[in-house]
Amino acid sequence: MDKYPPKEVLKDLIEGKLDWRRVKQIMSSPKDADRFEKYLALMQERVRWPEKILLPLGEHLYIVAKGKQRIVKCDCGCEFGDWRENWKLKALVYVRNTRQKLAEIYPGPRSPDPAWCEIREFYCPGCGTQLEVENVPPGYPVTFDFLPDIDGFYAQWLGKPLSEQVSAEDKSVKVTSQWARELSRQPTPKVARNARTSSAARAKRAG
Ligand SMILES: [Zn+2]
Repeated sequence: MDKYPPKEVLKDLIEGKLDWRRVKQIMSSPKDADRFEKYLALMQERVRWPEKILLPLGEHLYIVAKGKQRIVKCDCGCEFGDWRENWKLKALVYVRNTRQKLAEIYPGPRSPDPAWCEIREFYCPGCGTQLEVENVPPGYPVTFDFLPDIDGFYAQWLGKPLSEQVSAEDKSVKVTSQWARELSRQPTPKVARNARTSSAARAKRAG
């Protein structure tokens, strides 16, 4: 057997085609120095877009170099913008915050109390793939799972610094500030005014 697993075996490892005995053997063995580059090359072969993958973020998401930008991209091609802005803020979200919706996942007595927790499912707007799920108290800010220091990783771990240095600073507030500006420019929705009028009218009639 080879000292290091060949590319075909690593490909099977990524795709979950190896039996546990072989997986454990690979996990327990010393890693070849260029394992990350081999892994990236396999990832790059799986996608149909040309941008260079800098770091995988999960099963379907990648941080890629697009011109001078570093953005989050789904394997379907959908782009979520700067990697320092929480990509979840640009995903579709389904919130399970009622007993009925929570019971679809946790039926019976195992079902959590919606007064204490809600489950948020994040989906790609491009392909509809479920990308992440978070379980948080109601009203809790959307969690930023992973904001990697890409330059630190390339320079200090791989010994291959990237040409441009960009600080890994959380920029998510840019997105939420933009939402706040847009909301402040919007007139009060008609439906809310009607709802107030009709409840006032009902109160008057009842009185
Ligand atoms: Zn997608």
